[in-house]
Amino acid sequence: MDNRVVQGRMVTPKSLAELVEGESVMDAEAIEDADRDCPECGENVVTVGYMPSVTEFVTAYKCQECDWGTTDREE
Ligand SMILES: [Zn+2]
Repeated sequence: MDNRVVQGRMVTPKSLAELVEGESVMDAEAIEDADRDCPECGENVVTVGYMPSVTEFVTAYKCQECDWGTTDREE
């Protein structure tokens, strides 16, 4: 497992994906450092790839220090 501390809490790949997605996900890959800083507070951003359903793969980005988070999903 590749657990990280996000907003003071230990998260697993799945729980990080669920934090950004807002609901449960099927599967998630390892958490990695994203090559970007948070647009809100400038702190480190981590990224995780996950599958919210069998037909979809989404990459999430989440700040380790504040509420900011987003995905690469096309709206
Ligand atoms: Zn931030």
